[in-house]
Amino acid sequence: MISLVMLSGGLDSAYSLVRLLSETDDEVLVHHIHLMTSTNRHDVELEAVAKIVKYCHENIREFSYTQTAIDHRKMAAHGYDMVSAGFEAGVIAASYHLTTQKNIDRWIVGLAEDDIIPRHRFKDGQDCCDFNCQTGNAPELYMYQQINPQAEADYLGSDLFDMTWSCRKPKFVEDKPEPCTECLACLRRLVFDPPQSKTPSNSPIENSALLPWRLVTRVSEGKSLGAEQLNRSRLEAARKLLAAKQKLN
Ligand SMILES: [Zn+2]
Repeated sequence: MISLVMLSGGLDSAYSLVRLLSETDDEVLVHHIHLMTSTNRHDVELEAVAKIVKYCHENIREFSYTQTAIDHRKMAAHGYDMVSAGFEAGVIAASYHLTTQKNIDRWIVGLAEDDIIPRHRFKDGQDCCDFNCQTGNAPELYMYQQINPQAEADYLGSDLFDMTWSCRKPKFVEDKPEPCTECLACLRRLVFDPPQSKTPSNSPIENSALLPWRLVTRVSEGKSLGAEQLNRSRLEAARKLLAAKQKLN
C-alpha cells in the first residue's frame, strides 16, 4: 500500500502520520502545503513540519517528503483547507505516477473528534483530488476514525506534541510568533493535560481504524448544529474549561 499523508504541522496530522508509520508497513509519502495567508502562520507551521519530519525519520522509520506552496496572502478569503489539500493531493498523485508508473492508493488527513468540518467537505476534497489527478488513478481520502485531541496528544508523547503548532492567528512579538491564546485551536490546546510520556505511546487506540472517508462516523453534534453555532458553543465550552482549570491551579 502506498499512502500519502498531508502534514500541516498541527496535532491531528502529526498523530495520523505517527500512527501510519508505527502501525503499517505502507510506503509513506509525506507532503506539506505551505499555505500562505494573511494570518502569517505558514512559517511557524513549516518550522513545526520540519521538526516533526526530522523526529519521525530519526525515531520511527523512513519515508519521503515533499512540499508545495499556495499563496493567498493578498486575498481576503483563504478557501477551505480540505479543498486545497485535495487539489494538491491530485497533483502529487499524478506526479508520482509520471515518475514511477505507480499509483498512490490513499491520501490521509488528520481530523480530531471536535473538528467541525461538514461531511460534504470530505467529498469536495476527494472530488478536487480526482479532478486534478491528470494521469494514473486518483488516491482515495482516508482518515483515522476521530478521537479526542487529548488522546491524540497522549499517543504522540510530549516530545512530538511540543513540536506541533495549533494557533490559527499567531501574535508576533519582536517578529517571533506566539500562540494568540484566544482562538479555538489555542483554547483546545490550553485545556490539555501534558502527555505523560516523552515518546510516542504506541499503545493501540481502540475504535479508531484508518477508514475511507465514506465510512468515518461523524460526531453526532455536527448534525444537529450549524457549523458557526457549533464553533461558538465549542469556544464557550473551552473557555469555561480553561477558567475552571485556572481556578484549580
Ligand atoms: Zn490562537
